[in-house]
Amino acid sequence: MKYSIKCEDCEKEYSDSAQVYNCPNDGGKLIVNLVYDTINVNFQELFHRSSRRTPLQERFKEFLPVNNPISLGEGYTPYYRAERLGDVLGLKNLWIKNETLNPTGSYKDRPILVGLGKAIEFGAETVATASSGNAANALAAGAAKYGIRCVAFVPENIPRSKAQLLQTYGAEVYRVKAENPKEDPTIVLLKKACKEFGWHPVAPFGIFNPYQIEGSKTMAYEIAEFCFLNKINAPDHVVVPVGSGGGLIGWYKGFLEFNTLGFVGKVPKIHAVQSEGCAPFVKVFNEKKDLEAWEAPHTVAGGLADNYTWDWKGGLDSLLNSHGIALTVSDREILEAKRLLSRMEGIFSEPTGAASLAGIIKFSIENKTRKIMKADDAICCVVTGAGWKDFDDSEKEYKEPRLIRPYLEELVTI
Ligand SMILES: *Cc1c(COP(=O)(O)O)cnc(C)c1O
Repeated sequence: MKYSIKCEDCEKEYSDSAQVYNCPNDGGKLIVNLVYDTINVNFQELFHRSSRRTPLQERFKEFLPVNNPISLGEGYTPYYRAERLGDVLGLKNLWIKNETLNPTGSYKDRPILVGLGKAIEFGAETVATASSGNAANALAAGAAKYGIRCVAFVPENIPRSKAQLLQTYGAEVYRVKAENPKEDPTIVLLKKACKEFGWHPVAPFGIFNPYQIEGSKTMAYEIAEFCFLNKINAPDHVVVPVGSGGGLIGWYKGFLEFNTLGFVGKVPKIHAVQSEGCAPFVKVFNEKKDLEAWEAPHTVAGGLADNYTWDWKGGLDSLLNSHGIALTVSDREILEAKRLLSRMEGIFSEPTGAASLAGIIKFSIENKTRKIMKADDAICCVVTGAGWKDFDDSEKEYKEPRLIRPYLEELVTI
């Protein structure tokens, strides 16, 4: 058995050939874990293999719950030192993992393509998702490539560009109205529709598709590989924007696995950032209580507006085990971080993707957190999603450029 499947609630175990999305016993969330004894990979060989740019799932096939790798060309995103931005912020060792360069513009291509691969393995004809945009786009693009019908339930206020792109990939898109402030209406409908029509759920969180989380591990694997090849230490910190918590778990698990296997020297502290207008997970971290749904989320970071952090248990374990912390940032801080990324590093991030930088800035200026992040620590800022799918805030700042005639005199600003 390459990986184990176990229910988070009743702890019943399933074989890795079982065709299950959630626990057939009590409907609980399934946790997928590598069985280390079965892994027989030499990391020199592994990292040599990756230098040939094989599809991501093929490259890391020993570590992922897939039998038939599929690909949209995701992964292999750059990891580099952000010198100009670091100088401005007084952080000598600031690094960026630029996930905006995935095929559909966000890190979601990694988990969703694993979830989709599993659905294809299980014989899916229709896949369905509930998403604020990025996961649905990853699924719609992947489903298009593999000839599968894709249905996407999205929030009423989805940015127009995200919805347009979904249609361009050929997905059936429905905006779903909220009726109860404590429930995400897209998820309510996803559950009903999958049960009624036998559609396969490929949502990036919770009880719907437990395999996808594993795809997020590849971000950590790539950094481990980079550090190995360049003979540098793994980062001291990784700062991750958190919506439902799946990405966060992936970061921790990826480093933990490669550390356990001896491919990387340490597991960085994994820190979580949420928006002030929707911070159910930060509340769990601060108050050490079970998660409660956040009423009426309101934030410029649409990808973080999950009112219920589905994967909070695993997310909290990831923070506690790696000694990371969780904090909130305001919309103003997020938009300032987004501006800095474009002006200092030439990265067009969506607000959600810049929340990590906003968190790092907050860490480094707040005295009480200085103990957590020192000025010369190696910090990895994960820029999770590109700006070209979410123009709403850029639109507000837009000023029409001055119209001039083709004479040099016209260039003089008055
Ligand atoms: C989904 C998403 C997140 C949050 O990831 P979770 O796994 O839901 O915590 C962050 N950034 C972007 C761009 C996203 O699309």
